[in-house]
Amino acid sequence: MKPAPFTYHRARDVEGAVALLAELGEDAKYIAGGQSLVAMMNFRLARPAHLVDLTGLRGELSSIRNESGGLRIGALTTHHQVENAPLGQDFAVLRDTMKWIGHLPIRTRGTVGGSLAHSDATAEWCLLAVLLGAEVVVQGSGGLRRVPAEDLFLGFFTTALEPEEMIIEVVFPRAASHAALTEYAERRGDFAIVAAAVDLDAKRVVLGGVAPVPLRVPEAEAVLANGGTFAECAEAAATAIDPPADGNGSADYRRALTRTLLVRACAEAMQ
Ligand code: FAD
Repeated sequence: MKPAPFTYHRARDVEGAVALLAELGEDAKYIAGGQSLVAMMNFRLARPAHLVDLTGLRGELSSIRNESGGLRIGALTTHHQVENAPLGQDFAVLRDTMKWIGHLPIRTRGTVGGSLAHSDATAEWCLLAVLLGAEVVVQGSGGLRRVPAEDLFLGFFTTALEPEEMIIEVVFPRAASHAALTEYAERRGDFAIVAAAVDLDAKRVVLGGVAPVPLRVPEAEAVLANGGTFAECAEAAATAIDPPADGNGSADYRRALTRTLLVRACAEAMQ
């Protein structure tokens, strides 16, 4: 299937693109890697009348910089760039997680900003951003603002972004040298049925695929903070969540995956 007709616009700079989107209104959308949006357009799940192509902004928005304020990743950085970046032990969890995103051709086109804006509840970037307390820097008509990742995701494919707001970069403020993300999908490259992420230093636990947004689990975090075992942490998470049932599995199946994956993530994070 092919998308409904649309008018193509090429962004030349960030301010111009934001002004254009504000002028075109809710019928317009940014396109970055196109790895989610084009599929949705082909299935007619999205029918934007205008597409504003951000790929011309790559020079400006695709860098990875480790600075005193944290690790800053430009919105147009691809998953594959992060996979190959010399991130060191402090941010190894970002690099090591990229292998879970689709297949290589998807990772060479799909972008960090596109993933965050698309806001799939099992998307690895959304989980990592919540796990590591990231801030998302956004340019809108009124200027720049920083949105904590936990406030960005409001529900299934829904974010706190205004229609014209563009993600510029994501900032990971602290090192995470004992963190890991693992997941289960039926076929390699598919979105996860359940994903489990843990940061043992910050005592954070985040699950994907068990709620409409990446879910922090305070009950499991409390077990880590009190020196409990990884199995106790996983059991606390499985008991606390109320996962959905769908064609990919029942709620009990997702609880069972949570038990297994969280222990595995904790063990990987220890290493
Ligand atoms: P696009 O598709 O271009 O855009 C997605 C949405 O974000 C659109 O609404 C667009 O308007 C908006 N947008 C894009 N950039 C910005 C910005 N800078 N500011 C504001 N809004 C913006 N992803 C995973 O996380 N895990 C997976 O396992 C996975 N598997 C996949 C398997 C397949 C077969 C395919 C086709 C895709 C898969 N993906 C997966 C999706 C992939 O990671 C996409 O790259 C990502 O979801 C969207 O990034 P994009 O740059 O392609 O965004």
